[in-house]
This record gives sequence, structure tokens and C-alpha cells, in this order.
Amino acid sequence: MASQQIEIYNTLTRKKEKFTPLHPPFVGMYVCGPTVYDDVHLGNCRTFISFDLIYRYLVHVGYKVRYVRNITDAGHLEGDRDEGGDKFAKKAKLEQVEPMEIVQKYTLGFRDVMRMFNTLPPSIEPTATGHISEQIEMTKEIIAAGLAYESNGTVYFNVEKYSQKNNYGTLSNRKLEELLEGTRELGGQDEKKGRLDFALWIKAKPEHIMRWPSPWGIGFPGWHIECSAMSTKYLGKTFDIHGGGMDLIATHHTNEVAQSQACNHCEPVKYWMHTNMLTVNGVRMSKSAGNGFLPMELFTGSHKLLEKGYSPMAVKFFMLQTHYRSTLDFSNEALQASEKGFDRLMNAIRTLEKLKVSDKSSSDIKALHQKCYDAMNDDFNSPILLANLFDGVKTINSIHDRKELISKEDLSLLKKTFRDLVFDVLGLKEEKISSNNDELGNNLMALIIDIRNEAKAKKDFPTSDKLRDGLAKIKISIKDTKEGTTWEIEK
Ligand code: AMP
Ligand code: ZN
Repeated sequence: MASQQIEIYNTLTRKKEKFTPLHPPFVGMYVCGPTVYDDVHLGNCRTFISFDLIYRYLVHVGYKVRYVRNITDAGHLEGDRDEGGDKFAKKAKLEQVEPMEIVQKYTLGFRDVMRMFNTLPPSIEPTATGHISEQIEMTKEIIAAGLAYESNGTVYFNVEKYSQKNNYGTLSNRKLEELLEGTRELGGQDEKKGRLDFALWIKAKPEHIMRWPSPWGIGFPGWHIECSAMSTKYLGKTFDIHGGGMDLIATHHTNEVAQSQACNHCEPVKYWMHTNMLTVNGVRMSKSAGNGFLPMELFTGSHKLLEKGYSPMAVKFFMLQTHYRSTLDFSNEALQASEKGFDRLMNAIRTLEKLKVSDKSSSDIKALHQKCYDAMNDDFNSPILLANLFDGVKTINSIHDRKELISKEDLSLLKKTFRDLVFDVLGLKEEKISSNNDELGNNLMALIIDIRNEAKAKKDFPTSDKLRDGLAKIKISIKDTKEGTTWEIEK
């Protein structure tokens, strides 16, 4: 059983609440995953890293968590309100491949990036295309409940009818009238009955490639129904936690609540959790705004706004220094500071292994330990946790310099606190020279290549060969090209 009392900020009630799972020690958590038609940008990563922290902490304190994060590989049109072309088909046309090749390429890319950030894989990673029949069944049930209607091969959810008995704007805290004011009038040709109605199933135009048979003809699912269908299938009609970025509240999650409630006749989610946005100069990072940084651009330093590259752990540390519900603005200065902070933390962990014990203790490790857990119990407050860990870093360094004393018992608690929280909960790890993105590795290699080139220039071939062969032995190959000497780690 979980040993900590966690409080979670619930978007539904707009306050922090004690976390009591429906069926302890089990916890069901669903997070909206990526739409895999392009590389994930750093903003997407922030959301997934935040939920990884939440997942890791829940597991760490003893819950048995089933973490479901979907892959959206169909149904997401360019606009969030059933308008625009199909994102996958458009990209497939551009790259002259099948839509499923697009899906495969970006799914694998997403998983690689998540692995570099040392996030844990979810328990289940279901795809929209793998759950078409579940989405059709759910749509049928919503029609049977009288809350959806078919119009020329497309099925719409009837928001106004639903609102007679339910509060459609519950998640965004908006009244139906306000929401209506925010949408445009229906045109004469519109198949929808009401302005806020959204598609559960969409009739496929002849050129639409991703298509399936249904009781309403050939078509494809709307974007929102996949999450209702898959969360119900794997977590039940009501489950504990549903998450995603804040940008999903107004449309995607609002529609998910309505669909699940209409089909299952109960509130689908106990705690709704939303992460705030990663911004660049105050503007939300997004593919459409064109201000997206790709993780690889950051690791290699190849983006034009970057002064240099940063390792995945330095970037992750940068994100963890801000609470998941606050906005986080991207800047070179902040990244540089995070890189230093991360190094200090890792150095302290190395020092921790060398500390000598005495019979007395002059610092209060139990209090430090408790403060770290208090921070995480307070809505997963990673910046406060890190601040407490840095108090611990000061203590470690002064014990090392013999300015403070530590007993055997306290030293083992201090080690456990750091290991558990830094590695298991925050999901940080020591970085080895494993790629061309590593700063220390890059600097050392630049030095070796420099020495080798000088040797070659002086026709000192024994030295230049010794360097090349020595590197080959540790699986680093160097190549002389017109642009200069390059190196890579052999796989
Ligand atoms: P998408 O692939 O667009 O469906 O987005 C995947 C996830 O990333 C969703 O939960 C979004 O809310 C989230 N997201 C998108 N942009 C940002 C951003 N700039 N900062 C944080 N999260 C974001
Ligand atoms: Zn979703």
C-alpha cells in the first residue's frame, strides 16, 4: 500500500484534493499521447516527462499503476473542430509514402526520444487504428442513448441535448451560452444541428485514404472518440487519473467527458490533471506556430537559436525545475544554469559514496528526507523537491570537507533519499559518453583529433596511427573528409 498522502490539483474542481484511488492499491491513469504525423517537439516532451514523474512517484510510494498512453494514428484533422485535411494523409502525400509508414516512422522516433529522456514506457500504448470497432460500438451506444445523430454518413454528438441533463462546460468552467458565443454560426450547408456539435464518425471523401466500413458507410473516427473508447476498454467506465496538456481542456477533453458520460452514464474520471505549456519568448511552442524545437536539435545544438548542445538529462533537469502547472519559458541562460545544476547534483551523489562516518550526526537527515516527500506529496512539486535536494548537496559537501558529521544510520538514509528521489522518482541518470552529443566527449574528441592532425602534418605517422587504432579499439571510428575529420561511435 502507498505510504504517502498525496494531494492532486484537480482541473474538474479547480482545487487540490487528497488522492484516494477508487480501488487501492491499483491506480488507473490515462494520458493523451502524441499525434504521430511529425517529430515530437520539446513542448510535447514536457507533458510526457511531467506524467512520467507522476507515474514514477505513484509507483515509488507503492501503488500498482496501469498507465495507458495512446498513440493517435488516425482521425486527427488539421483543425481541432473536425475541419481541415487529414494530418497523416497530408504528410504521406508530401513524403510519397503510405500513411502507415508515416505513423511507423514517427512512433519509433517518439519512443527513441522518450528513451533518451529516460522516461518509462506506459503499461499499454494503444493506437486509434487498432480500436476502430470499439469506437464504432461507442458511437452506436451514444446514438442509442439519443445523444448523437447521423447526417449524410457522418455522426455528430448533440451537445445541446446532452446539456439538458449534463454540464458540457464542466472541465473548462464555462457555461453553454459562453461556449456558444465563442463559435461561429452554422452555414446553410452545415450537416450539424448545433454549433457545438462535434463528429464521432466522419464520412470519408473519395480521396481520403485511411477509411473503414461502419454502419453509417465508409469513414473514419473523429479525434475525441478514440480516447473515450480506449480509456473505457483498459481502465473501466470510471478511472482515477486522466492527463494531458492544458491546451486539450477546452475541446478534446471536454468532448471526451461528454462522450464517456453519454455512453457509460457515469463520470469517467476522478482526477483530471493538466500540464502547462512550454513557451518560447512567451508564445506556446507548437508545430503550427513554427517555433518548435526538436529534441535532437537541442541535443546536438544545431538549432539556430541555440549557442550549444545540451544533454538529454540537462534538458530534463531544466524541465523538472518548474512545477508542471506553471508555464516554462525556453532560454539559453536557463539551460546553461540547468546544465550546471545537474552536474552539481551528480557530483554530490558521487561524493556521497566517499563520505566517512563518525559516531555523531550534526545534520538532520530525517527532516530533509521528510521535506523531499512533502514536496512530492504536494501535487508532485519537483522544483521544491530539487530545492530540498540541493540543501542535501550542501550538507554532503560540508560533511566531505569535515565541517559537519554524519552517523552510519544517517548516511544510509541520505544515500537512500538521493538514490530513490533522483534516480527512481525524477528519472535522472548519470550520463556516459555515448554519443556525439555529449559535451565532454565532444571536447575530448576535438582534442584527440587536433593532436592527430598535427602529427599527420608533421608526418609523424606512428603517433597518428596510434591514435586512430587506439580509438578503433574502443569502437570510435574517425574519418577524414573534405570538411575535416569526423568521428562516430560504432554501433
Ligand atoms: P499532440 O501530438 O499535438 O496531440 O500533443 C501531444 C501532447 O503534447 C498533448 O498532451 C498536448 O497538450 C501537449 N503539448 C502540445 N504543445 C505543448 C507545449 N508547448 N507545452 C507542453 N505540452 C504541449
Ligand atoms: Zn485524448
